[in-house]
Amino acid sequence: MSIVSHLHQLFNAETCQSYIHTLRWKERPLQCPRCQSHNVGPWGTYHYQPGLQRYRCKDKDCKRTFNDLTGTLLDGSKRSLRHWILATFLLCLSCASRRIAKEVGVHIRTSYRWCWWLRNVALSYEMQRQLDGTIEADELYHTAGQKGQAKGGGKKVLGRRARGRRKKREPGRGHYDKDRPAIIAWVSRQGTVVLQATRDFTVKTVQKAVNLAVHIGSRLYTDSASSYRALTGYLHEYVNHTQKEYARGAVHENRAECLFSLLKPYLRVFRGVSKINLPGYVGFFQFLRNFYHLTAFEQAEMILYAALDPAIASKARKGDFVRCLDHFDLLQSPIN
Ligand SMILES: [Zn+2]
Repeated sequence: MSIVSHLHQLFNAETCQSYIHTLRWKERPLQCPRCQSHNVGPWGTYHYQPGLQRYRCKDKDCKRTFNDLTGTLLDGSKRSLRHWILATFLLCLSCASRRIAKEVGVHIRTSYRWCWWLRNVALSYEMQRQLDGTIEADELYHTAGQKGQAKGGGKKVLGRRARGRRKKREPGRGHYDKDRPAIIAWVSRQGTVVLQATRDFTVKTVQKAVNLAVHIGSRLYTDSASSYRALTGYLHEYVNHTQKEYARGAVHENRAECLFSLLKPYLRVFRGVSKINLPGYVGFFQFLRNFYHLTAFEQAEMILYAALDPAIASKARKGDFVRCLDHFDLLQSPIN
């Protein structure tokens, strides 16, 4: 499906509305969002939102009205559906929230909030993902500090000089407390991936990570890091990079390394990610990779479809999906 065929629709309010209407009730029963009754009928329209269908619940105890957007992520937004659709599309093209604000024409705070919600919605597809078969693993340390974590928002008074951590990177393994949390990638040879932002790279953390990401008993190919060698419950083989061994027959981790070569430029677009927000960004990248065979618009359609489910929307607004993905207590850590 080409983008152009959709772009002209974006500029017609009524077509957008009927697109959202179709998506809202696709494979979902038309029912009252308050009492779940199926006994509902049309109840006029709104003059200020052309095309938005209103319904009335005919249940004798309810009798309330609702519309296509009631309870969804788009409910109560002052911005038009065109703004939402375009923003979701740009998000799937890996745009930063500042770029989206500029292109769509909304305030940066609006676009930041939307991006955060929509990323959360996308995570709803990734909650149950567990890999099996042959899995490659690799780890990366990403510099992530306290961007945007000033109390009460606004510009942060540092009270110190900028740390310039990119230049004076310490050798060896990173750690959450040193503003360099680890990201572990699990890549199936079938193509599906799981990425996890973790506090550190100890045996305990990696064992917990592998148990969440990979089916027990699967075949695991890694490098010779001691945390991998201590793993139990898997058929494990490794290549020894220190001895310049990068592949031994089928044993290699090139797919995992390739994934990082895609993750790094993806994260670079955001000009620094807070370590608090890292699981959300990494999780969204996982969604993009697992549906890479779709176009950005089809990915956006998946996100919008989920955002129009009231149950997913309320969880996404509260950030529940990111919290569920955060098995390593990155979000709970005190900010100092
Ligand atoms: Zn009702």
